[in-house]
Amino acid sequence: KRDQDDLEKLRLAIEELDSKSTEIKNFTDLPLCEATTSGLRASHFEVLTDIQARAIPLALKGRDILGAAKTGSGKTLAFLIPMLEKLYREQWTEFDGLGALIISPTRELAVQIFEVLRKIGRNHTFSAGLVIGGKSLKDEAERLGRMNILVCTPGRMLQHLDQTAGFDVTNLQLLVLDEADRIMDMGFQTAVDALIEHLPKSRQTLLFSATQTKTVSDLARLSLKDPEYVAVHEEA
Ligand code: ADP
Ligand code: MG
Repeated sequence: KRDQDDLEKLRLAIEELDSKSTEIKNFTDLPLCEATTSGLRASHFEVLTDIQARAIPLALKGRDILGAAKTGSGKTLAFLIPMLEKLYREQWTEFDGLGALIISPTRELAVQIFEVLRKIGRNHTFSAGLVIGGKSLKDEAERLGRMNILVCTPGRMLQHLDQTAGFDVTNLQLLVLDEADRIMDMGFQTAVDALIEHLPKSRQTLLFSATQTKTVSDLARLSLKDPEYVAVHEEA
């Protein structure tokens, strides 16, 4: 009962959150659950970066986001925090299957995202895994069914969606396309298109990129629904 009251409070606080507010400076100013707040504190994250301050409130409210900000501006937390919060508010458990999928252009970047997730998500109970190849398809496939969150590279993920029997993504709540410009530069357009075809349409999608290019807006058009456009430019 107490849990339900807390969840209700959290949902209300998000509804009432002004996504344009300039009052949101610290992570403690955001309506986040205790597990996320304590994970951020333990990881020594305190003040939001610009892209985080602009994107996180909108993403918490369930909007699709097209976010552009240069490398090093903190885009990882801009999608990991709303992702953890969405699954938390949905009271996601091991029985609910895959809730969130993060697509990254390279293995190295996927591993980096996974490491940040392990740090800030340490007080959550979700299961999370990497799908980046390097192991046999069969070994990976056996773990897939138990995962709530996956960080993947496009080709490998598509392989599982096409070939791994019983791998069910129909519950997916959130899709993240990280470093979308690099995903496109590296020639993953067809793989990502095919991947998205497998996913439920009722999901939330967050797309982040270091640059705004034509190929990124093409990808955004295919994957996002009425996106909020969030660009952070360097001060001249
Ligand atoms: P991007 O994906 O935009 O290139 P990252 O998410 O990799 O940026 O973050 C770049 C660096 O900034 C990382 O070392 C990360 O730990 C740090 N960082 C991110 N957000 C914050 C924050 N709110 N406060 C302090 N450091 C942060
Ligand atoms: Mg990044």
